Amino acid sequence: MKIRDLLKEKEITLSFEVFPPKTADKYEAVAQATEGIASLKPDFMSVTYGAGGGTSAHTVSLAADLKQNYGVETMCHLTCVASGKAQVRSQLEKMKEAGLENVLALRGDIPAEGSFPDAGHYHYASELIAEIREFGDFSIGGACYPEGHVESANKKEDLLHLKEKVDAGCDFLTTQMFFDNDILYNFLYRVREIGVTVPVLPGIMPVTNAKQMKRICSLSGTYLPARFKAIVDRFGDDPAAMKQAGIAYATEQIIDLLANNVNHIHVYSMNKPEVAGQILENLSAILGR
Ligand code: FAD
Repeated sequence: MKIRDLLKEKEITLSFEVFPPKTADKYEAVAQATEGIASLKPDFMSVTYGAGGGTSAHTVSLAADLKQNYGVETMCHLTCVASGKAQVRSQLEKMKEAGLENVLALRGDIPAEGSFPDAGHYHYASELIAEIREFGDFSIGGACYPEGHVESANKKEDLLHLKEKVDAGCDFLTTQMFFDNDILYNFLYRVREIGVTVPVLPGIMPVTNAKQMKRICSLSGTYLPARFKAIVDRFGDDPAAMKQAGIAYATEQIIDLLANNVNHIHVYSMNKPEVAGQILENLSAILGR
């Protein structure tokens, strides 16, 4: 099913994000973890592509296996900054052959060498979105940044480019993680003000590893509220306590979003079925499942 239809059909959705293995020998372990999440029957799962030093070789096969074996709708991420048209088309062909209908179309991070892509390569996600639209009938998502993308000079400019991206053919947007819901509410106001009407799925990150989180936040510039910092400072060195506190914080964020009618929630579940399961359990009465 196409995610654009799913978001229309269901009043509330909860989706989980997973990542593929870096090497083929890790496929089984990753498949086991992600199957644990699929068995929770989320509304859909998304599978990353080459993020965080990972590879892109297993994105389609993992998404296809989860869909086939668990009947869970899946979405493949696809980046374009380091690719030519042929590589993008070949990836889209693979998705089509596997019966996958949803793509999160991303530019990807500029390679460490820092050189902007050559002519013949894609420069922005909007170009990839136009390409996918031309290729076939996929439901296309895009990324957005409530605190502004790190490279953009200011939020206003970033929003104008976001509007271009949606106009190129995005059906919905998924946000970068954030830890203060007021930032999301302010962003939603600004997004609607410039005429972006597609669903915006807030991306919620349950923080279960303090060290990793500090690194990610320092790279992406994500704001850490004092209440969140206190949790990390107090429990960061105790893995079990940090996990419990991180899950509770994410659960609270989700409850507040739902209470404010932000109804389509995406969780960065990071191949951790126990984290995904605990969040679902915490929300069972609210979600009615
Ligand atoms: P774009 O939308 O192209 O924007 C990138 C920058 O360019 C922004 O600053 C924007 O304002 C600016 N811009 C856009 N258009 C123009 C224009 N015409 N002229 C000038 N400036 C312009 N990365 C991975 O490698 N793999 C993944 O699986 C992955 N999944 C992600 C999932 C989500 C939900 C999110 C939020 C991010 C994900 N990322 C992933 C990270 C993403 O690739 C990076 O954040 C990347 O730097 C930007 O990608 P984008 O698609 O948002 O780019």
